[in-house]
Amino acid sequence: MLVDSRKVIGSPIRCGEVTQTWIFKLLDQEPRPGWVRLELEAKGPLVVLDRARFELELSLIASAAGVTVMSSTTLVAIGPFDGQRRPATLEHGNERTLVNARCIIAADGVSSLTARKAGLNTRLPLSAIGSGVAYQMTQLSLAHPRRMTMEPLLPPWPAYPYYFWTIPNGPAQANVGLYVPGREGSRAQALLDSIIASQPHLARGRKDAIVVGMIPEARPLEVPFADGLLVCGGAARFLDPNTGGGISSAILSGRVAAEVVLEAFALGAATADALRPYRRRLEPTVYRTLKTRWRFHDSTVDFARRGLPWKEARDAK
Ligand SMILES: Cc1cc2nc3c(=O)[nH]c(=O)nc-3n(C[C@H](O)[C@H](O)[C@H](O)COP(=O)(O)OP(=O)(O)OC[C@H]3O[C@@H](n4cnc5c(N)ncnc54)[C@H](O)[C@@H]3O)c2cc1C
Repeated sequence: MLVDSRKVIGSPIRCGEVTQTWIFKLLDQEPRPGWVRLELEAKGPLVVLDRARFELELSLIASAAGVTVMSSTTLVAIGPFDGQRRPATLEHGNERTLVNARCIIAADGVSSLTARKAGLNTRLPLSAIGSGVAYQMTQLSLAHPRRMTMEPLLPPWPAYPYYFWTIPNGPAQANVGLYVPGREGSRAQALLDSIIASQPHLARGRKDAIVVGMIPEARPLEVPFADGLLVCGGAARFLDPNTGGGISSAILSGRVAAEVVLEAFALGAATADALRPYRRRLEPTVYRTLKTRWRFHDSTVDFARRGLPWKEARDAK
């Protein structure tokens, strides 16, 4: 069963939609028409998704494969694991349903409460939260219509890892946004407006929609499992602390979670012991990559604190 509180799965987006092409292989899917808006010019194969369409169509593919897909449905409570199952209370409108789940995969994003309801400490203090705000802009005249740019914020705004981005995502259009510490979130949109106004190639564009969201500045959960529960993607803090990118690690962890859950069921029950391989299997991929990215993050933050320029900090890796 796949449960999502959104009315339409995938919408609204809270993302710049840039990701690596290997995600399609992980999903055992060839990209369908409309999933990829644009291939970017970059060192690796980077694409910009139409994430709303991509996620909605993935849910339809899951549904066609036999998954019960429930939108507008929120998981509101979890009970204790009884050795076989965990009760989960789902809310759809005014209706509540109790589901006795053999395992719950918490893929509920950065603001996840599911893992915490099951007893894992996922508390994020304000100091460990970044705020992202962006516009979907059209009618732009970009010098490099397929090149993503990331620029540091200027003083008095804090330097690295916060930045201003332009992600082209179609003809004359881009996602233009920035990322600031959570405590500055209320000033983020005004800052974005002023940066856009100061750049003539952006200032003449049209702001069609706004995208906002939280980016955790916290290391991945060390133990992303408990009895009858696995934690994936943003809920497990699987995001690159330097870019805020988390689509690919969400998909990778989701896939490994599904494999481990099936193996646990084959053994009997999804106890914490049976789910332990989830952490182990993500070690050489998600955990190792994020460890390197956090090392880079920490050294560049230190560089920035000492007043060294962004480029030097970036090249210090
Ligand atoms: C402004 C911004 C820009 C970003 N740009 C990029 C980018 O360009 N590239 C990139 O790779 N990453 C980017 N990210 C990060 C990326 O969006 C996340 O890493 C990614 O979405 C994590 O995926 P997820 O499936 O774990 O969680 P989410 O995408 O957050 O999905 C969680 C889902 O769970 C549902 N949900 C939550 N609680 C419940 C509940 N109790 N019951 C039922 N359903 C629930 C929500 O409705 C939602 O659909 C960006 C983030 C922000 C904020």
